Amino acid sequence: MTLRRNVYKVLCFGLILVIAYNLFLVFYTKAILQKLILSSLQKELHLPLSEWNGTVIKRLSHLELDFQHLKKSVQLVVKQQERVDNILERVEAKASEMKKQKPREKLFPDSLLFKQWGEDLPEAEQKKAQDLFQKFGYNVYLSNQLPFNRPIPDTRDSRCLQKTYPSQLPSLSVILIFVNEALSIIQRAVTSVINRTPSRLLKEIILVDDFSSNEELKANLDEKIELYNQKYPGLLKIIRHTERKGLAQARNTGRDVATAEVVAILDAHIEVNVGWSEPILARIQEDHTVIVSPVFDNIRFDTFQLYKYNLAVDGFNWQLWCRYDPLPKDWIDLNDVTAPVKSPSIMGILAANRLFLGKIGSLDGGMLVYGGENVELSLRVWQCGGRIEVLPCSRIAHLERHHKPYALDLAPALMRNALRVAETWMDEYKDMVYLVWNIPLQNSGIDYGDISSRIALREKLRCKSFDWYLKNVYPALKPMHNIVAYGRMKNSLDQNICLDQGPIPGNTPIIYSCHIYSPQYTYYHLTGEFYVGGLIAEKGVDDRCLTDPGFGEKPTLEPCSKAAKNGLHIHWDFKQGRAVRNRATQRCLEIKKDTSGYFVLVLQTCTTQGWTIQHTVRNWGPTNLQ
Ligand code: UDP
Ligand code: MN
Repeated sequence: MTLRRNVYKVLCFGLILVIAYNLFLVFYTKAILQKLILSSLQKELHLPLSEWNGTVIKRLSHLELDFQHLKKSVQLVVKQQERVDNILERVEAKASEMKKQKPREKLFPDSLLFKQWGEDLPEAEQKKAQDLFQKFGYNVYLSNQLPFNRPIPDTRDSRCLQKTYPSQLPSLSVILIFVNEALSIIQRAVTSVINRTPSRLLKEIILVDDFSSNEELKANLDEKIELYNQKYPGLLKIIRHTERKGLAQARNTGRDVATAEVVAILDAHIEVNVGWSEPILARIQEDHTVIVSPVFDNIRFDTFQLYKYNLAVDGFNWQLWCRYDPLPKDWIDLNDVTAPVKSPSIMGILAANRLFLGKIGSLDGGMLVYGGENVELSLRVWQCGGRIEVLPCSRIAHLERHHKPYALDLAPALMRNALRVAETWMDEYKDMVYLVWNIPLQNSGIDYGDISSRIALREKLRCKSFDWYLKNVYPALKPMHNIVAYGRMKNSLDQNICLDQGPIPGNTPIIYSCHIYSPQYTYYHLTGEFYVGGLIAEKGVDDRCLTDPGFGEKPTLEPCSKAAKNGLHIHWDFKQGRAVRNRATQRCLEIKKDTSGYFVLVLQTCTTQGWTIQHTVRNWGPTNLQ
C-alpha cells in the first residue's frame, strides 16, 4: 500500500515539473517564439506579416489555455490523491491503534446475554445492554436496533405453500397482551401482524396492558398507536388494566372487547410469520368448536435469531407444566404434513371463534399471575365438546425469555393455579397433582380461590369426566392409585437430614440436609416400591426405584419397570416411624457416621433405626408428621 502511494507521488511530482517547465516556456519565451516563428514562416510562405500574426497568436493562446487546463487537472489529481492519502493514513492509524489496544474487557463474563453476542461492545454499552437484559429478560439493546419489519425465515414445510384457502374467510382480531415488555418488541409484533396478515381479514389489533409500570409504555406507546392509526384508521386499540390481573384476565379482557369473528390471543413478544393467519381462519371457519394453536419457533433472547422448532403436540405433566409431546401415530399415518394435529392442550397462545370461546367460559379469571390457565382451558374444551388442534402451516416466532420480569419464581403461582384445575376438572385423579407438588391432600393451606362458578359452568355445559379425557385424549399421563405415603423421609437419628436422590447424573441416593425441592420427594407404594427424587407417572418414562443391589453397602436408584423385569430387589416393607426393610434381602436402609463424622446412607443388618415420611394417604398411618 505504501509503495503504491510513493509511486503516485513520484509520478505527480514529475508531472508538475513538466507543466512548470512548459509554463515557463509559454510565459517567458512567448515573445521570442512568436518572433522567430512568424519571421521564418513569413519568409518561407511569403505572406504579409499582419495575417500571420493573428492566426499563430490565436493558436499559441489556445496552447496556453490547454496548459492551464492541464495544470488545473493535475492540481486536482494531486489534491485528490492527498485526500485519499489522508484517509488511508487515518484508517491505518486507527487499525494500528486498535491492534495496540487490549481486547475489550467482558464486564459480565457470566451473563448469558454475552455468551454468543456483544463481542466487541464498548464497556459502557455492555453495561447498558446488561441492565436492559436484567430488566426485561431479553436483549432489548439489540431489539432497539433491529428494524420493526425485519425479515424472518419462512419456517413452514414447503407443502404448506401449495395449500389454497377459501376466498371468503372470517375476520380476525389480534390480541397482544403484555406487562412491562420493551416498546420496540411490541412495535415489532404489531408490524409483523400488519405486514403478514391480509388487510381484508385483519379487523383490529387490541393491545392489553396488564398494568405495566415502564414509562415508555405510557404516553410513548399511545403516540405510536396514534401513528399506526393515522396510517391504518381504527386498526389499533389499547386497553389498560388499572391493577395487575395476571395473564388469564389480560387475555379475557382482549376477548371481551374484540369484535371480529375470530380472535388470536398472542403474547406481545412475537413475530407472526408469513401466511400464519389463513390456516387458522380456514380451520375455524370449517369447525367453530376447534381451538387452534400455531406452531412456535424460538426467537433467541440474546441474538434474536430464529430457531425453527419441529412440529409437536402440546402436552403437560401432572404438575401441569406445559411441554411438547410426540406426534400421534394416526396423524403420521395420514401422510399429510399440512393436516391439523389433534392436541391434548395448548401452550398459552391460541386462536378461536370469539363467540364459541365466550360460550365455553373464556379463560378462568380466577387464575393468578401465570400458568395453569392453558390446561384449564384445554380440559374444559375437550371435556365440554370442543377440540384442540395444532396447525402445522401457521407459524409464529415467540421470544422465550431468559427470565420473567414479573416473577422470580413461577412455581408458587403455577402450583396454586394447578390446584384450581385439579379441583374443578380432575375428579378422582386430582390427588396426582397434590402428590407431584408434594402437597398434603387435606388441609393443604393453599388458597386456590373460589371455584364455585367454574364448577357451575361445568355442570351447565354438561361436561365429560377427566377419566374420559385421560382415556380418549391424553393416555400418556399415567395415574397411580397405590401410593400410600409421600414427601421427605427423615431418619430417627437426625431430623435435619433427609433421603435425597443424590447427584445427577448418577444413581446413588444419599442423606442430605433437608430442603423443599423434588430431589427429596419420595413415594411409597402399597406394593412396596419406593420412588426417590420426584414422581413422573407418565407412560414411556420410568420413575426411579430404591433398590438393594444385593452386594456392597450402597443402595441404588433404578428405572422401576426395567428393575422389576430384571428381578432387582425394589420392594420394601415400611410403616410410619419404622424400619425400611428390603423384602428380598432383609437388609435395612439406615444411616451411619463415616470416618469424618458425617452420616452416610447404607444398607445393613437392621438396627433400631426408623424413618418418618412427610405425608400419608388413606389412613395408612398418622398424617402430616413434619
Ligand atoms: N403477562 C401478563 N400479566 C402477567 C404475566 C404475564 O399480561 O401478570 C403477559 C406477558 O407479558 C406475556 C404473556 O402474558 O405477553 C405470557 O407470559 P410469558 O411470555 O412470560 O409466558 P411464556 O410465554 O414464557 O410462557
Ligand atoms: Mn411468552
